[in-house]
Amino acid sequence: MTANLLDFDLAGLAVFCERLGEKRFRATQLFRWIHQKGASQFDEMSDLAKSLREKLKVTASIQGLDVTAQHISNDGTIKWLFDVGGGDAVEAVYIPEDDRGTLCISSQAGCVVGCRFCSTGHQGFSRNLTVGEIVAQLWFAEHFLRRRLGTEERVISNVVMMGMGEPLLNYEPLVRALRVMLDDHGYGLSRRRVTVSTSGVVPMMDALSQDCPVALAVSLHAPNNAIRDGLVPLNKKYPLGELLQACMRYLAFAPRDFITLEYCMLEGVNDSIENAQELVDLLRRADHGVHWCKLNLIPFNPFPASGLKRSPRSQVLAFAKILMDAGIVTTVRKTRGDDIDAACGQLAGDVQDITDVQKRMGRRRTIKLNPVLEFDRLATEGTVHG
Ligand code: SAH
Ligand code: SF4
Repeated sequence: MTANLLDFDLAGLAVFCERLGEKRFRATQLFRWIHQKGASQFDEMSDLAKSLREKLKVTASIQGLDVTAQHISNDGTIKWLFDVGGGDAVEAVYIPEDDRGTLCISSQAGCVVGCRFCSTGHQGFSRNLTVGEIVAQLWFAEHFLRRRLGTEERVISNVVMMGMGEPLLNYEPLVRALRVMLDDHGYGLSRRRVTVSTSGVVPMMDALSQDCPVALAVSLHAPNNAIRDGLVPLNKKYPLGELLQACMRYLAFAPRDFITLEYCMLEGVNDSIENAQELVDLLRRADHGVHWCKLNLIPFNPFPASGLKRSPRSQVLAFAKILMDAGIVTTVRKTRGDDIDAACGQLAGDVQDITDVQKRMGRRRTIKLNPVLEFDRLATEGTVHG
């Protein structure tokens, strides 16, 4: 079996090259060809000796993921569905803005945490992604976008680990993939522009602060343990007090002087004025005053199995006002890509639906001809959105 070079960070690639009897600096050249130029064939790598290219052809490959669907939203958001084998699929979403291009990527197929408001959680856990599968989402998206926009400049400036899965429960591969993103010979992203989002795996937050302290987002969603226990089952293991202490410890190593707290607004569950006041008290009790965090209120993206509803906008604004009056920096997340179901927590829903369609059609996911058209076709059959 050949090695997939997308599985290696630069240090790992250097070891691989040494084993082939090559100097370590060859690894840097190879790494740049793969990640900076998007090469997938060794013959493209014109400054590598022919003998090395021949050696690589028999020992290695650059193996991306098959794209089974691509959908482009009216607002420029692009969503890709990647086949990871065994009937599993994961998604990545590109969100263009004036001053940045953000890619949201997945860390696992499914998720074991099982949050009540999350369709990935409802789908259950299938498996961890490998380093190569995490990196392949960025590798594909970056070079696809460069070709589409006709540029050789970098298009993706920010990466958020907010797709499917709990990144801190796939820790080793996550850290290796982050190193590829940060490496100057890879994607050269700054630690401030790469964000890991976690439902609160406390020991792994500490580990990340030592191994690769990128920006951190914590999915809070509740002002007290009673509500959080019902939304994020992991809270029973790592309750709010411990989680906030872990945030304080992380701050000492974080690339920014704040941590983002995500709060999904659910009607009648966690969105009352009393909940907002309790949240202010909770955040004030943390030993850094209230300036250690930024609160991001996320409009809930509903899906039928959740039995939950999005808070009305007026309620979100009233909630936000209480936080802001208490001096907490608060933003309300814009929903992007709504028309293609690319907003938070909607990713797995489509995967499920497409799988169902394929079961009905009696075939596996082998769509490769024209993903956009194929996706449209599935959608117009009334099965994806209907
Ligand atoms: N497992 C990690 C990262 C992936 S989820 C985590 O939980 O943080 C990324 C973000 O999307 C989290 O803040 C999560 O709470 C939020 N989210 C999940 N389902 C959602 C939904 N249906 N509507 C709005 N936000 C959702
Ligand atoms: Fe997993 Fe995050 Fe979804 Fe919770 S919100 S089930 S941790 S992906």
